[in-house]
Amino acid sequence: MERPVPAPAAEAALDRGAKLSGYSCKKMDLTGQRFGKLLVLSPADNVGNKTAWHCRCDCGREIVAKTAHLRSGHVKTCGCVAIRERLTLVEGTCVEMLQAKTVRRNNTSGVPGVEWMKGARRWRATICFQGKRRYLGKYVRFEDAVKARKEAEAQFHDAFVERYSKERI
Ligand SMILES: [Zn+2]
Repeated sequence: MERPVPAPAAEAALDRGAKLSGYSCKKMDLTGQRFGKLLVLSPADNVGNKTAWHCRCDCGREIVAKTAHLRSGHVKTCGCVAIRERLTLVEGTCVEMLQAKTVRRNNTSGVPGVEWMKGARRWRATICFQGKRRYLGKYVRFEDAVKARKEAEAQFHDAFVERYSKERI
């Protein structure tokens, strides 16, 4: 089971804290409780000598998190948010790319990267990658603009996200 790897120093500090306050020995019931994006499903086997829980992230992934990390707020997601933040920080990918699978509210077409150009009376397809907007052309037919965008997405985005998701943080 994959789980986010916290910074070693921070983890050590938290573990020390947990030991001092003593709650690492007792199993308090966190089932059904929510910590950030994580919903506690059921008790898990101890991690080391620390009590832990099966949690489901809002993104659908399930992880095991230590009681102390949940209670301290140290672990709030399965790591999906960290991946997104890292995509932005490391590669300078703009927010649009990270939301490519979701529909943006201010988008005129309902499809990310496809906009209606009033003046030109064309659908313009763009994609934002590594902080740069790339123009994919203007199209008379909406479907053609969407197709151009989807192809570019598949090219850049999917390979990119896949690489980082596999690598994990
Ligand atoms: Zn997640």
